[in-house]
Amino acid sequence: MPDGRTHYRYWRGWRCSAIVIATLAWGIHGGLLDKSLLFFLAFPLGYQLGAWIDPDLDLRGNTRAKRRYRRSILYPAYWWWQLYSIIASKFAGHRSLLTHLPLLSTAIRLAWVLIPIIVITAIMGWFIPEGYVSGLALFGMGLLLGLSYADTIHVVADIFMRS
Ligand SMILES: [Zn+2]
Repeated sequence: MPDGRTHYRYWRGWRCSAIVIATLAWGIHGGLLDKSLLFFLAFPLGYQLGAWIDPDLDLRGNTRAKRRYRRSILYPAYWWWQLYSIIASKFAGHRSLLTHLPLLSTAIRLAWVLIPIIVITAIMGWFIPEGYVSGLALFGMGLLLGLSYADTIHVVADIFMRS
């Protein structure tokens, strides 16, 4: 099975393909400069998140992504992901469908990221102006699919690579 370094190498190697896919999909969609563009811009950004929100966060201990949090201003997220790995190892297990199945596990991890953001915004009394909701939903969908694509590359390596 590939280690964190190998996964990261694959993630880096396929990065440009996320831009190509998003650009082609945008062209097929009609190349419109409207709200739908948010979706196509978010797709490669979602892929970028793959270096920070990868499926192996279900492992307790210091994974590559967790070390990245520890060394950044996102240090508190390191503890938030430690909690995730404790819960994941208790109820799902490493490489279970809940932590590794693209789309499903991707949505779970993004929801995990959203929990503290929603709590903080609720405490601060911030809200999204109504006119921005549909654009934000499109952007969120693009992020989800882009990160799912990164997860798919991770899972394919998990399944087919022996190291
Ligand atoms: Zn994995």
